[in-house]
Amino acid sequence: MSACYNSFFKKPLCVLIFLGIILTYPGILQANPEQPILAKQKKTIVIDPGHGGHDKGALGPEGTFEKNVTLDLARMVATELENTYRVILTRTDDYFLNISSRTSTANHVKADLFISIHAGGSFLHQPCGITLYFFKKTAEPALTPDTDPSKPFKRINSLSAWSNIQNAHQTTSKILAKSLLNRINEQKIFKKSEILGAPLMVLEGADMPAVCLEIGYITNPAEEKSLQDIRVLSNIVQGIRNGIDDFFEKVR
Ligand SMILES: [Zn+2]
Repeated sequence: MSACYNSFFKKPLCVLIFLGIILTYPGILQANPEQPILAKQKKTIVIDPGHGGHDKGALGPEGTFEKNVTLDLARMVATELENTYRVILTRTDDYFLNISSRTSTANHVKADLFISIHAGGSFLHQPCGITLYFFKKTAEPALTPDTDPSKPFKRINSLSAWSNIQNAHQTTSKILAKSLLNRINEQKIFKKSEILGAPLMVLEGADMPAVCLEIGYITNPAEEKSLQDIRVLSNIVQGIRNGIDDFFEKVR
């Protein structure tokens, strides 16, 4: 066996043929791992435009529906991000989606971030500003967005198998909320801004850093106008983009 092996490698032609086969055989030395590696390096971001279809969300005094503002903004965010990140929208048009399917989309694609977009609603015209929510469990049942503008969220008893999954991401979700708010505030659009912890059902089952962005009050006449202004929306998008970039700088 050993004699045969030695005599084989003493023949230069045999050695050249042997090396030629090894170097050209696909899957041995020339496996092409480049594309999968590049794909893996792109972070996946799921953007969730709140409401849709018969669920119109809050209604502005001029007749603007929250579901349309959230979709417009989500599409603009996706366009801004898609060169750098893999971006997936939970809904791409005006149709209804239940709350749990929004989070399960993010879990299914193993997203690195989940951002749900809403606008605030109130029977009063005065409430204004931007609020960033991270998930914070309380003794109370989870909250879900409501179409009744006096109660932007309603309580639902959730028995989801994912009920505790977001708790593990609370610290990173807070960092995400801060990163986004700092950068959106740089755009000087909103007079008031805050970060709150709440048991929001749309965040509850997310197995990654997740926030709900309530981007101004659509029931406030001035903010309703702003949310229809493409320049204001572009500035919000820029803030979101910078906030996401900052987040990935801090949390890798
Ligand atoms: Zn909403």
